[in-house]
Amino acid sequence: MQEYYRTMDEQDSLHDQRNAFYFPQHEGKDVLYFCGNSLGLQPKGVLGLLEQEVMDWRTYAVEGHFHAKNPWFSYHSIVTESLARIVGALPSEVVAMQTLTANLHLAMVSFYRPTTQRYKILMEAGAFPSDQYAIESQARFHGFDPSDAIIEITPREGEYVIHHEDIIQAIEQNADSLALVMFSGVQYLTGQRFRMNAICKAAHHAGAICGLDLAHAIGNVELQLHDWDIDFAVWCTYKYLNSGPGGIGGLFIHDRHATSHDIPRFAGWWGYDEETRFLMKKGFTPSYGASGWQLSNAQVFQIACLRASLDIFDKVDLQTLFAKRDALTAYAEEGLVSIKQEMPQLPIEIITPKEKEERGAQLSLLFHEHGKAVIDKLIADGIIVDWREPNVIRMTPAPIYTRFSDVHAFIERFRAHCTELFSA
Ligand SMILES: *Cc1c(COP(=O)(O)O)cnc(C)c1O
Repeated sequence: MQEYYRTMDEQDSLHDQRNAFYFPQHEGKDVLYFCGNSLGLQPKGVLGLLEQEVMDWRTYAVEGHFHAKNPWFSYHSIVTESLARIVGALPSEVVAMQTLTANLHLAMVSFYRPTTQRYKILMEAGAFPSDQYAIESQARFHGFDPSDAIIEITPREGEYVIHHEDIIQAIEQNADSLALVMFSGVQYLTGQRFRMNAICKAAHHAGAICGLDLAHAIGNVELQLHDWDIDFAVWCTYKYLNSGPGGIGGLFIHDRHATSHDIPRFAGWWGYDEETRFLMKKGFTPSYGASGWQLSNAQVFQIACLRASLDIFDKVDLQTLFAKRDALTAYAEEGLVSIKQEMPQLPIEIITPKEKEERGAQLSLLFHEHGKAVIDKLIADGIIVDWREPNVIRMTPAPIYTRFSDVHAFIERFRAHCTELFSA
């Protein structure tokens, strides 16, 4: 009988996508890369698209704004349709700009408008530090004490992931004072996927705005931002979307808010109505939708890198991608569970939820000891996973370029290292 992983790789309709990426090399072979949750691999199309812009700059200089192959004047829009499909939005609701944290600040300027009665922000405890700092500083900026203004939802005693009911209950209990419910789509440390749709419904029912941080969700899990009625969302694109270090960020603003000109915003010239932008008039006229939140002219080189990755995603049916994700992650999980059964003394727990609706591609392994030793051994094998303080290894078989045989090889090496380190 043929091994499961061989059959799965042979049947994988996304098998070719892997060849569209460069893999770092280890002893003459591709590494096994399980870090796409942190920094995606380089699409092979990147250099060509960057070269196009570099050469257009050389050839046209300032005229490139209108005469480049992809005129820089509207360069941000070359990724709009592809991003809109991935996040489940109308094109007018999406713009590629700045970085995640900058966009979070800009969105909060518009959508966190506390009053003395309604000023609280509800979020997950242990959110990514940048989000914590941004949100605390926004509360302070409005004159509130973060320890009073921010309500953090924690896992229950002795647990690692948050119960959905606890989120909803906290929203309901604080309905009188909540201004904003701000959650990540997928938690960066535990890999827990939150029920974004239900959280947003509860937030709106309580009279609050709902914002999402999709850093670990975009390109990883199903998103329907428009239909879910999310007010705003922000993301980076260098994780599952492979746009490279410092890659361009993204912003979603629901169409419902597109024409609300009373929403305050920190404006810049690139958010100005395109038709009349170069009349350079006094007084800000925003362009329709999310693009009205732009500050500066398009970050051409960053967007070119993202475009190369989206060329790959455009060819992929997202349902197929997500089905492969579930199968790969379940396969990795089964392998880990079987190792744990062989070695019950193993001081390792998988803290990511077991249900596929409650997670994406990532599995987080909590080590009560020797986590660093395991990761060092994996890296020496050419297996790239990542370490998050104080004691978590994140292992992510990103379905766009990971094979079942890669997961199989990971499990074999992981078993060998555990046997060596823990069976004494
Ligand atoms: C990766 C990540 C960020 C990174 O923010 P940048 O502004 O892109 O540096 C922020 N928030 C979360 C939840 C992340 O996972």
